Amino acid sequence: MNPPLRFSKLGRQLAAGSGIGELMEDLGRALAEGGDVKMLGGGQPAHIPEIDALWRRRMEEILTSPGCLERVLGNYDPPRGNQRFIEALVGLLRREFGWPIGPEHVAITVGGQTAFFILFNLLAGEMPDGSRRQILLPLMPEYIGYANQGSCEGLFRGMRPRIDRTGEHSFKYGIDFDALEIDESIAAICVSRPTNPSGNVLTDEELSRLSTLAKVHGIPLVIDNAYGAPFPDVIFTGATPLWDEHVILTLSLSKLGLPGTRTGIVIGPPEITAAIAETGSVIGLANPNLGQEIVRPLLESGEILSLARETVRPYYQEKSRAAQGWVREAFADSFDYAVHASEGALFLWLWFPGLPIGSRELYERLKRRGVLVVPGDYFFYGLEEPEGLPHQAGGRADASPGGPWRHRQECLRMTFTMDPASVRAGIAAIADEVRSLSRV
Ligand code: PLP
Repeated sequence: MNPPLRFSKLGRQLAAGSGIGELMEDLGRALAEGGDVKMLGGGQPAHIPEIDALWRRRMEEILTSPGCLERVLGNYDPPRGNQRFIEALVGLLRREFGWPIGPEHVAITVGGQTAFFILFNLLAGEMPDGSRRQILLPLMPEYIGYANQGSCEGLFRGMRPRIDRTGEHSFKYGIDFDALEIDESIAAICVSRPTNPSGNVLTDEELSRLSTLAKVHGIPLVIDNAYGAPFPDVIFTGATPLWDEHVILTLSLSKLGLPGTRTGIVIGPPEITAAIAETGSVIGLANPNLGQEIVRPLLESGEILSLARETVRPYYQEKSRAAQGWVREAFADSFDYAVHASEGALFLWLWFPGLPIGSRELYERLKRRGVLVVPGDYFFYGLEEPEGLPHQAGGRADASPGGPWRHRQECLRMTFTMDPASVRAGIAAIADEVRSLSRV
């Protein structure tokens, strides 16, 4: 018998399985098994009819415009991305926001996800002098997709948020600036805005304080704009986009409706974008260029802005409003719950204070009812505190000194982009399950 294949440390880190990877497989299996499954678990953008029609129109233009299809399919782009696309984007950002940037501030990647892998590992991990640096995530819960991206363990330092109860059944996270410590071991600060999973949008004041802190300490502030402005602009509250010389902003075409084209965009200091282009060429030679070709004329004409503001944003805002209404209706006052302020992105973040089981057990129970969500505790990582189930620890969400923090076990993320009947039925099943638990 052959000896078992051995993976390197990096190989294990990347390929030995992650909690979320297993969960995604589980979700996929549950879907494949068929039956009446309510899929409220993924990050899939909706198929908005006007947007799908636009992609079809653009593909027809690519097909009929002489030489265009051949160029897109038959050419490698430079590692930094397509020159015309980058110039169109820079032009739009200069016109729209007045940012003093040029093509040297932009690099294209194979989706936003790859941009983060490259960025985090360029900046943090083991340094040439043997010291280690980390990425500070100042407000947990944060995007689960970052969690396993380190080429070594312990790449992230997560911070507990402030939890502000804004009404009987509503709350909003805030950055606990008093607890924020930045020293030499922090390589960069990173936030998603709007945040996946909570739908939180950091206030302009919070972002400006983070930016000042980063600047003072000479480190970059990474702002993940996967759902932000100027596209797809799935932001339901006022939020001013921020640019500065130490800011690294990432954008993506995915949530605009083009996840299949794998197009990520990094806007940042020229040393950073050059390093990203260089790394991109080592890993993948060049980027997919179809998404860039589909979207370029929309950047040049500015149509992308009206599309985001008048079609994409209102579509999701209405979905969020409807889902919140069904939550109010189904949950009524029969157990303690709070919904995070839905300020953007594609999810509702539900909190059940005092939930007698952990969020993964709740996920399993809901799966047995044919409802797929994402258990909340996956989104709390890099925290310096013991994990644990709520029934092993006393204390309320924001008061558990030394012990496991209940809150991380009391939340779940549900996507509201699916057909209304599924979302509504899924919410009713969540209500039923939590109500039955509350009676135990
Ligand atoms: N950042 C956030 C907050 C996300 O939710 C996602 C995807 O869901 C990504 C980045 C990566 O998206 P993509 O690789 O499709 O651009």
